[in-house]
Amino acid sequence: MKKPFDIDLAIKLISKAVRPFPKAAMFELAEAGFNSPFEQLVACMISIRTYDEVSLPTACRLLERARTPKQMSQLTVAQIDALINTSTFHERKAIQIHELAKRVLDEFDGDLPCDSDVLRSFSGVGPKCANLVLGIACEQPYISVDIHVHRVTNRWGYVKASAPEKTMVALEAALPRKHWIDINSLLVPFGKHICTGNLPKCSTCPVLDMCQQVGVTGQR
Ligand code: SF4
Repeated sequence: MKKPFDIDLAIKLISKAVRPFPKAAMFELAEAGFNSPFEQLVACMISIRTYDEVSLPTACRLLERARTPKQMSQLTVAQIDALINTSTFHERKAIQIHELAKRVLDEFDGDLPCDSDVLRSFSGVGPKCANLVLGIACEQPYISVDIHVHRVTNRWGYVKASAPEKTMVALEAALPRKHWIDINSLLVPFGKHICTGNLPKCSTCPVLDMCQQVGVTGQR
């Protein structure tokens, strides 16, 4: 018989469990000082469909060369592409990053606003990246749901949704606001190392006694 799911306790236990693992890339980047909305958005665009282990050094390489929209717009698309060529779909991303820099310069005087509609109006930016930027760089309460947050919260039985965007809506209704930003930073390493896609490590999981293990057919 499982205990009722206690989200405050789960967050506390998971915070401790993920301490040995690297932080989610965007949070690590922010701690390294690349924490402006523009830098975070560029890094998130680079991270799409690319492993953190690759996207983090790739984003650092580009941002060390160009940290502001003005500096970025002075690079050519080919130069941006050469700097991010370890990222998946780098050619398309180089065009999108160059366009982003130019639009921020032309339309917002070089200062990317903390505005969800504006962020999502750029080519290559979906709700996951927009919300990460709003949460990390703007310190606004937004939930960013990637595949790890989606998988883990559905396995818990905390939400029931068929896709990350639906999980985001469900979490907005269920999750206390104080956890909206942290949920991503905790569940990305938790999903990578403990509640893994295949064979999650349930036997040593700190929330086993309250997790419904929805859809889990094999475990370690
Ligand atoms: S008990 Fe298993 S399914 Fe549930 S959160 Fe832990 S690892 Fe994931």
